[in-house]
Amino acid sequence: MHNDDPPNWEEQRKMMVQHQLRGRGISNQRILEAMGTVPREKFVPINYRHATYHDGALSIGYGQTISQPYMVAFMLQLLDPQPGDRVLEVGAGSGYQAALLGQLCQEVYAIEIIDTLAERARQTVQELGYDNVHIIVGDGSLGHPAAEPYDGIIVAAATPDIAPPWQEQLTEGGRLVAPVGSQGAQRCLVAAKKHGELGITESIGCIFVPLVGEHGW
Ligand code: SAH
Repeated sequence: MHNDDPPNWEEQRKMMVQHQLRGRGISNQRILEAMGTVPREKFVPINYRHATYHDGALSIGYGQTISQPYMVAFMLQLLDPQPGDRVLEVGAGSGYQAALLGQLCQEVYAIEIIDTLAERARQTVQELGYDNVHIIVGDGSLGHPAAEPYDGIIVAAATPDIAPPWQEQLTEGGRLVAPVGSQGAQRCLVAAKKHGELGITESIGCIFVPLVGEHGW
């Protein structure tokens, strides 16, 4: 291989799934398939594109990041999305996770507070043909009342708490996954709604960019 050969994205994506995901215990077959299919390189700004399948987060501008592939897979596995689900993502960023959800679920609403990022994400998911992914500009700490209720809510920014609107906008039996804690460090929480109340399970520690807005910082 010569250094000026174009990158073989498909091969790099396969290796990422094998080593970073399977190798570390991600076992949900549908999630592994989606991550082996969605072209992450399309969601990464051109100046970092060479590092698309590295084992880390990457800058997408405006102080924001596209999360590490392992973290994305891990959170999706906690959410356990089903083919018939309607899902809300808070913090659409590049639109990468929204596209994965588009492949895994029936309908996806992904809300992003920075309008230029939302515009770019919308363009990328459209170009890739994810017609069931809707990118919305707004404060996702308020959820997205226009399309509630959701079978799943996944929060991709660090939050001080589970914002009350998220609980309200979940279906009975719905699940929420969020990094909850301080601005410096969080823990992934899974909350399942039963009889209107959230039953919470704690998972691994993580570090996300902070949620801003009404119920954020
Ligand atoms: N899931 C994204 C990465 C998310 S980074 C991806 O796949 O690329 C977190 C994102 O949350 C940032 O883009 C940030 O602008 C956004 N964000 C922070 N607070 C928000 C809020 N209140 N509502 C919506 N988006 C928010």
